[in-house]
Amino acid sequence: GFAESTHGYVGADLESLAKEAAMNALRRIRPDIDLEEEEIDAEILESLEVDQADFREALKGIEPSALREVFVEVPDVTWNDVGGLEDTKERLRETIQWPLDYPEVFEAMDMQSAKGVLMYGPPGTGKTLLAKAVANEAESNFISVKGPELLDKYVGESEKGVREIFSKARENAPTVIFFDEIDAIATERGQNTGDSGVSERVVSQLLTELDGLETLEDVVVIATSNRPDLIDSALLRPGRLDRHVHVPVPDEDARRAIFEVHTRSKPLADDVDLDSLARRTENYVGADIEAVCREASMAASREFINSVSPDEIGESVGNVRVTMDHFERALDEVSPSVTEETRERYREIEQRFTTDE
Ligand code: ADP
Repeated sequence: GFAESTHGYVGADLESLAKEAAMNALRRIRPDIDLEEEEIDAEILESLEVDQADFREALKGIEPSALREVFVEVPDVTWNDVGGLEDTKERLRETIQWPLDYPEVFEAMDMQSAKGVLMYGPPGTGKTLLAKAVANEAESNFISVKGPELLDKYVGESEKGVREIFSKARENAPTVIFFDEIDAIATERGQNTGDSGVSERVVSQLLTELDGLETLEDVVVIATSNRPDLIDSALLRPGRLDRHVHVPVPDEDARRAIFEVHTRSKPLADDVDLDSLARRTENYVGADIEAVCREASMAASREFINSVSPDEIGESVGNVRVTMDHFERALDEVSPSVTEETRERYREIEQRFTTDE
């Protein structure tokens, strides 16, 4: 029973638990001893018997370190690092940054600021990047939680994890809480059979937290999902994650902008034609384009390193260039990660979400 109730506790936590349980036993057996003041006889320690109740009492006081490890960071991503997605950036700016920067306007207009945004779209389209950029630009702290990790780390007590995350966020406000892959924990209640009601409890906790957020607390939730159609609809209602933003597969202009972001600080040869690269990368998402640029640089580096003697590298590195040929090779290596069917599916979801609103 003890092993079961210590899910999520690591070695060091167990050691503290054992110590605390022993202290409890000691207090029980020798209430006359002041544990703070007196040295305990070795004899007493040897005769000490720790029972279930001592452990249970200790468990109440010591939390698994997973719960203490909600990291608060300040991201360094800016809008400049996000290529394309101009509409999406604008919507996020209005939803998250404006209420923080111009609370007077929202008050004057009797507008509630948003508590939550759901960004949906295929993986690698820049959702994480956008969330970090908006937190940075709004000078907010950032707490990032991955849905699947929340389940793993807080086995059996994910709802406790959720509570802890919101309380950390309030302590550090203004804070953007980023729930990546929220579909892993917040699928329609009852749909996830075989998980003994975990998502049900997590969803209720999320609802409680969202409903309890005061506008003034400056805590905003940004959630992402690849499968928004599976998310519990209660979470998506007004006053909760009620802004739904489609982060699409980039079109040609957006791809060109993404190529620019990822080649900005690379030495490019004059023959590199970003327009042509953008035209030829239909169905490539941002992460694919980043991979193309990385592969191209790698090809250029390989060629350079193999062509000069090791002691010349330092003096000739100024001449190294990534050429169009390197990009050609990279395009052969990296395939697009989305298909026409995927895009169609998201278009359908987008339509459904916009008609629902
Ligand atoms: P998602 O959260 O949608 O799965 P990410 O934001 O994690 O995608 O993107 C992964 C990586 O791909 C980013 O770190 C970035 O290097 C690149 N990337 C994706 N979208 C863009 C974009 N619009 N502009 C620039 N880089 C992008």
